[in-house]
Amino acid sequence: MAWQPAENRYETMKYNRCGKSGLKLPAISLGLWHNFGGDTPHERKVDMCRTAFDLGITHFDLANNYGPPPGSAETAFGEIMRTDFADLRDELIISSKAGYDMWPGPYGEWGSRKYLIASCDQSLKRMGLDYVDIFYSHRFDPDTPLEETCGALDHIVRSGRALYVGISSYNSQRTREAAAILKDLGTPCLIHQPSYSMLNRWVEDDGLIDTLEDLGIGSIVFSPLAQGMLTTKYLNGIPGDSRAAQNHFLKKDFIRPTIIDNIRKLNGIAERRGQTLAQMALAWVLRGGRITSALIGASRSAQIVDCVKALDNDSFTAEELTEIDLYARE
Ligand code: NDP
Repeated sequence: MAWQPAENRYETMKYNRCGKSGLKLPAISLGLWHNFGGDTPHERKVDMCRTAFDLGITHFDLANNYGPPPGSAETAFGEIMRTDFADLRDELIISSKAGYDMWPGPYGEWGSRKYLIASCDQSLKRMGLDYVDIFYSHRFDPDTPLEETCGALDHIVRSGRALYVGISSYNSQRTREAAAILKDLGTPCLIHQPSYSMLNRWVEDDGLIDTLEDLGIGSIVFSPLAQGMLTTKYLNGIPGDSRAAQNHFLKKDFIRPTIIDNIRKLNGIAERRGQTLAQMALAWVLRGGRITSALIGASRSAQIVDCVKALDNDSFTAEELTEIDLYARE
């Protein structure tokens, strides 16, 4: 018999309004950057997507280059759409992006109209979708006029390829510029996707969170677990099946004794709060309701189950926040 989603899937997840838009996103979303490429068995990918959806995670985040090889995460997700989620399209928010290196030559990266529209078409084809819900400019391109990048995003919406647009990792000033252009074009910027965690606070220093609130743009923060460092997995060395063991995006050098000492202290605070460190790290980015969604990654379903329980205790005392600040540093 075909897989059936859990009937109670909307009972526990929280859904937050994305800026001043009509769209709500789950407080926890699942990204397919790692563990959805050719190096992971397909059954595990299916299991993670089913588990996430059963827990109320309606939002799956992709990009053209997720794999490895680039494109393979979208191909795998397209397969899951056909086998498992075919009847659920209207319950899902699926995003993709273009910005990083995707194909050879001068038209395969950054922010030109040529690249963004071609890449969006390729993503739709790989996923077997008529449209994505959100399409992002994955990074600011210093050499392409912002009017061109934003014009391409506007065209992607007007041509039916996407319902909403977003930007990723743009600083506060560039965000204001892009938002103004998109507003003038009549395709408002729905969402911003920056990195943010207890160990990485550039969005606070840059004023980006304030800017997004001011502009009514939602926020979905990536790597809220610092790629797994804000969990207990590295307290006793680097497990062979962990991201740091791959030494690619999360370098083994990041796992330094001084950081591990601090992470042990943070884990002590989490234990006192009755949650895992991963749960506390997610609750921390969501504290105060300023962030729309925490965008996690996972290598197995059990991690997703663990992460969504962050919502059971997502408020902090002033003392807890002060103590976290003592240890949450790189
Ligand atoms: P996280 O910080 O959530 O790290 C995910 C990793 O943490 C997992 O792969 C796993 O590591 C570990 N983990 C997750 N949950 C648990 C748990 N409960 N207990 C123990 N370990 C756990 O996020 P990512 O860095 O994966 O990024 C999330 C998403 O953000 C991406 O998939 C992508 O969609 C998006 N992103 C966007 C970027 C952009 O430029 N816009 C850049 C980067 C990411 P392990 O694999 O070792 O088990």
